[in-house]
Amino acid sequence: MDTLVESKAVVKTPAYAAQSAKSPLAPWSIERRKPRAHDVFIDILYCGVCHSDLHQARDEWGGSIFPMVPGHEIVGTVVETGDHVSKWKKDDIVGVGCFVDSDRTCEACRAGEEQYCEGGMTLTYNGYERDGKTPTYGGYSTRITVDENYVLRIPDGIPLERAAPLLCAGITTYSPLKHFGVKAGDKLAVVGLGGLGHMAGKLGHAMGAHVTVLSHSPGKREDALRLGADDFLPTKDESVFKENAGRFNFIIDTVSAQHDYNAYLNLLRRDGIMIVVGVPEATPVSAPSLIMKRRSLAGSLIGGIRETQEMLNFCAEHGVAADVEVIPIDQINEAYRRMLKNDVRYRFVIDIASLK
Ligand code: NAP
Ligand code: ZN
Repeated sequence: MDTLVESKAVVKTPAYAAQSAKSPLAPWSIERRKPRAHDVFIDILYCGVCHSDLHQARDEWGGSIFPMVPGHEIVGTVVETGDHVSKWKKDDIVGVGCFVDSDRTCEACRAGEEQYCEGGMTLTYNGYERDGKTPTYGGYSTRITVDENYVLRIPDGIPLERAAPLLCAGITTYSPLKHFGVKAGDKLAVVGLGGLGHMAGKLGHAMGAHVTVLSHSPGKREDALRLGADDFLPTKDESVFKENAGRFNFIIDTVSAQHDYNAYLNLLRRDGIMIVVGVPEATPVSAPSLIMKRRSLAGSLIGGIRETQEMLNFCAEHGVAADVEVIPIDQINEAYRRMLKNDVRYRFVIDIASLK
């Protein structure tokens, strides 16, 4: 910190940013606010690379705010706390996920589901602070300042680089598995073995479900089984859809690219539920896919702070963590290219020491 120019209210912070939807990520400098009364100032150690980072940095969802510093799977060390912070102290190992604030008063916030905040959650990046004008910047940077109520505790026993992806990939899959009631003995299909998919498989297995991975990459069979799946179905083989019709109680679909939801809905048994967490472009659904066996198609968005802490504790208790490939930050553009080729085993995590 001593080598950096500081003013009274802000600290200059090295980061990597996309200046536009067409430009690669490159070194940039941002300002972090010094901790106010309820803030925690965090020195970032690791940041996971989510497919949502790529979608947003390339403005695939529209409305992206540039320059953008992506990153919402953050693990770091508390270096300073505001005067009124009671939950955290210096040297605590903490996490920050997909949002850093919310309106705190609406029904969703009061229910501990800040991700559905009616006033809009404050995204960790590609958003604005509660003032509606200060842009937020994510974890492809060396530090971050966050309100103490939006910080998570990383339990002992999870290697920190393997904990980072839990802050998004972990909670995004844990939350719907819990919410929709996946339990021991249920037949759970996981579609897409990427960052989210490999966590869904591990978590489903830890919850006692019989897990089948459906993948368009036949070469992932061995990995799927090693990661805890009981079965593997290569979806390029058309016969898979006939032979497994009506088989599953639950499907969690993590695929980032367009594919036919109807083909997968048909794999559900009576009253089965397909949970969409991947965000492909518009995908048509035909009524009979749902009607014929009283099936449900549902969606789910990350998870609230309370549930994220529950998920982290669950992972520590069950020995669950992400499988990661740690990279220096100057390899981030190559990591995006590899993510688009499905060449991720199974989450890239940036070692932020490479930026310091
Ligand atoms: P990822 O690591 O790139 O994994 C996506 C997987 O989808 C790939 O590994 C691949 O698995 C499969 N896939 C990719 N292209 C495909 C194609 N053309 N046809 C069929 N399958 C294909 O991405 P991720 O980080 O897990 O994110 C997955 C999606 O979830 C993204 O759209 C992301 O934005 C979204 N997301 C949603 C939430 C939420 O709250 N709902 C949170 C985070 C991320 P196989 O090779 O095994 O087929
Ligand atoms: Zn994410």
